[in-house]
Amino acid sequence: MAAKVISGKQVAEEIRGELKQKVAELKEKGIVPGLGVVLVGEDPASVSYVTSKAKGCEEIGLYEETIRLPADATEEEVLKTVDGLNKDPKISGILVQLPLPDHISVDRVIGYISPEKDVDGFHPVNLGKLLRGEPCPLPCTPHGVKQLLVRSGNDPAGKHVVVCGRSNIVGKPLAAILMQKAEGANAVVTVVHTGAKDISYYTKQADILVAAMGRPNAITADMVNEGTVVIDVGVNRVPDSSKKSGFRLAGDVDYEPVAEKASYITPVPGGVGPMTVTMLLYNTVEAAIWLNQS
Ligand code: NAP
Repeated sequence: MAAKVISGKQVAEEIRGELKQKVAELKEKGIVPGLGVVLVGEDPASVSYVTSKAKGCEEIGLYEETIRLPADATEEEVLKTVDGLNKDPKISGILVQLPLPDHISVDRVIGYISPEKDVDGFHPVNLGKLLRGEPCPLPCTPHGVKQLLVRSGNDPAGKHVVVCGRSNIVGKPLAAILMQKAEGANAVVTVVHTGAKDISYYTKQADILVAAMGRPNAITADMVNEGTVVIDVGVNRVPDSSKKSGFRLAGDVDYEPVAEKASYITPVPGGVGPMTVTMLLYNTVEAAIWLNQS
């Protein structure tokens, strides 16, 4: 069987189209959702992420403001900047671009963001709400995975989802999202990690397999059953002398052989990647609606 490819680019475009429409309707009511981004330092990857977020905002009609601080900014300066955005009525969503320099506590900064404006969904209050099944902004990459599944006709309800990886930004929140008794979820979820003696014992039992390990080609064809839906979250730089950059991007899944067995598969790049920024835009619009109701 050759797998159908789930195009994250296509699904992201579909969602951005819906958001553009929603933003236009909100503007008619005098509501303009706004994203405030805090960038500390000039790490090239972070600068590029922030640029793509700003472009996404422009595309769907959001107000956007990026505050750039030098790499030697103090933690107090970063907290003061976040505080300003917390109080700014033009801003419905706040994003602090990670990683932060070592002298700044990520936990302290994330904890300082007003939970109502926490569009990354990383604030402990929102993670608690997520576990309890209460309304909250969902962390963007796991939310993107859920949307890819639902919109490709692979509703997780009643399926066995095996998530490989238990990070706070992907594996754990994804498991929490998909186990909820809710639309587009209600799955039976198993989470595997380096503590598992043999991860293939679990991956072979998956109806839906999500790889979020940060290990290039860790999921090989012998670990996957015929007909499994495979979502590859991994983005890894693999040395490649044929490329000008000296590397190519590879997922956590050994794509070609696994695609021979899977029923659906996401590519890298062009799978989960384009969904992350799109769900950030989604959370910013939802936050604006919520803030104007409360
Ligand atoms: P992370 O914090 O490094 O966590 C990796 C997780 O995978 C850990 O829980 C680790 O287990 C587990 N793991 C690693 N090797 C394993 C193995 N051989 N067998 C079983 N489990 C293993 O990574 P992350 O932040 O979740 O990111 C994962 C990947 O997704 C990375 O490639 C990252 O670049 C990518 N990513 C992509 C997006 C996107 O927008 N597309 C967003 C975020 C992340 P332990 O807990 O036991 O160490």
